[in-house]
Amino acid sequence: MTSISENLKNIKSTLPEQVTLVAVSKTKPVSDLMEAYEAGQRIFGENKIQEMAEKHEIMPKDIEWHMIGHVQRNKVKYMAEFVSLIHGVDNFKLLKEINKQAEKHERTINCLLQIKIASEDSKFGMTLSDAEAIFQSEDFSSLKNIKVTGVMGMATFTENEAQIKNEFNSLKSAFDSLKNIEHPNFKPETISMGMSGDYKLAIACGSTMVRVGSSIFGHRS
Ligand SMILES: *Cc1c(COP(=O)(O)O)cnc(C)c1O
Repeated sequence: MTSISENLKNIKSTLPEQVTLVAVSKTKPVSDLMEAYEAGQRIFGENKIQEMAEKHEIMPKDIEWHMIGHVQRNKVKYMAEFVSLIHGVDNFKLLKEINKQAEKHERTINCLLQIKIASEDSKFGMTLSDAEAIFQSEDFSSLKNIKVTGVMGMATFTENEAQIKNEFNSLKSAFDSLKNIEHPNFKPETISMGMSGDYKLAIACGSTMVRVGSSIFGHRS
């Protein structure tokens, strides 16, 4: 078995310069995260707010914490002080709550709009026209403490590469059609797509941020 630092090094050597690596450390002990940290990794992704907050509390403060999981509105307050990027924003009410909590801490929180690209019912996300409607709403303009910096998507869990590729392409084209919108709360730069099994394909389809867990830290039990 290869070590965490070797896994990281191998993956990073294959990533183009413009692609950011989020090390997905959910369920893993702090000692594993520290091994990645010692190897130079500074961006970690978690899918549970409580777990992320606990790890943030005890780990070095130059880490960027990304929330990659589904977010319940009543839990935003537990991460508002420190979270760097929230990937899974899939409704406007959630965006408003993130803005409200960010304001309390006098900061701006970057968010990605989660677009539903998978055919599976289990995946969260909004349609492209839902996203366009958000940008057009007056309410959105009143949110001074959030910035939408791009989109995120999750492909269907399948072996069918052609299908995954189609879904990634649809996220890329959603980003391309949104990116021309000019709005003070919108700075389009990130397409978050690709995980351990499909990040190479995601990059070929235009991903700028990959979320890789098991290929770095090993399988989760
Ligand atoms: C767990 C998770 C990942 C990482 O998955 P791996 O297959 O372990 O790389 C990426 N994105 C999201 C949203 C996740 O929940």
